[in-house]
Amino acid sequence: MSALPTAVSVPTLVEQARAGQPRAVARLISLVEDASPLLREVSALLVAHAGNAHVIGITGSPGVGKSTCTSALVTALRGTGRRVGVLAVDPSSPFSGGALLGDRVRMQDHATDGGVYIRSMASRGYLGGLAWATPQAVRVLDAAGCDVVLIETVGVGQSEIEVAATADTTLVLLAPGMGDGIQAAKAGILEIGDVYVVNKADRDGAAQVARDLRAMLALADRAGDVWTPPILKTVAAKSEGIDGVIEAIEAHHRWAQQSGELERLRLRRVRGEIEAIAVTAMRGRLADLHGHADLDRLAAAVIAGETDPYAAADIVVDTV
Ligand code: GDP
Repeated sequence: MSALPTAVSVPTLVEQARAGQPRAVARLISLVEDASPLLREVSALLVAHAGNAHVIGITGSPGVGKSTCTSALVTALRGTGRRVGVLAVDPSSPFSGGALLGDRVRMQDHATDGGVYIRSMASRGYLGGLAWATPQAVRVLDAAGCDVVLIETVGVGQSEIEVAATADTTLVLLAPGMGDGIQAAKAGILEIGDVYVVNKADRDGAAQVARDLRAMLALADRAGDVWTPPILKTVAAKSEGIDGVIEAIEAHHRWAQQSGELERLRLRRVRGEIEAIAVTAMRGRLADLHGHADLDRLAAAVIAGETDPYAAADIVVDTV
């Protein structure tokens, strides 16, 4: 599906994406998803044009209203004329390329809006897939002229932490009636949120969730943190409170820029990306070693007691 028609070169595709052509943007993200060998060239052409988008992660347990909130945020952001990219990341699903969008992201309202790119992305199940693919997909949207990129996670658990690592500002959603207090503590989301949103504020218990959260945040160890995450209430289904969320997101962004936190965060993120690419490359080379004569020789030497597995592994690492 994502193979390039021979007529289209990578530079052309990148030019088209930069000119805002949705098909080109979609193709580039497919290349990311497929871990295409062409990505090296794509990446080299994109870097100079990225770095302008404000990347916002949206995370929380299934059913809290992430999709509804994302859609309401898109509407509000579009209202101010900003170009918006939405990446719905599913760490567990083998499906991709928009298969999830119909049911996951309530984006039908935006389907005909040329200022919005929407894309779901699966990590294809390989280890570290998200850490590797998400920043690259964000870079595509960024270079395509998106002022804001919203990353919505579909799954739970580790993905929340990975989203936080990719985003400039992380939004954590909670809702009443979901046992969120315990879940929040478990998933470690008390450490990752820059803005907390108690959605479904039209339901009983929303005030209690906000109170519990405030108490838990006060106890959480957010060492060195000078940003105090606000706790907001929304009724995403009616777009209530969404403007307040946008104000809080922007306030966090301003703080991050002024305090130097944004620069630190981006450095950490790109370091992680380089590591992920390096690890993938190393893993590929190690896989090539399987059944390799050198590895057999080393294994025989360990069995014979001439060397130990650690020393043998050092030799392997030095040679890959
Ligand atoms: P996600 O799984 O976190 O993406 O959650 P969804 O956006 O799919 O929302 C889950 C359900 O909650 C849907 O049926 C929504 O219509 C509903 N929902 C979303 N926001 C609100 C809200 O503010 N109030 C109420 N009562 N329901 C909401």
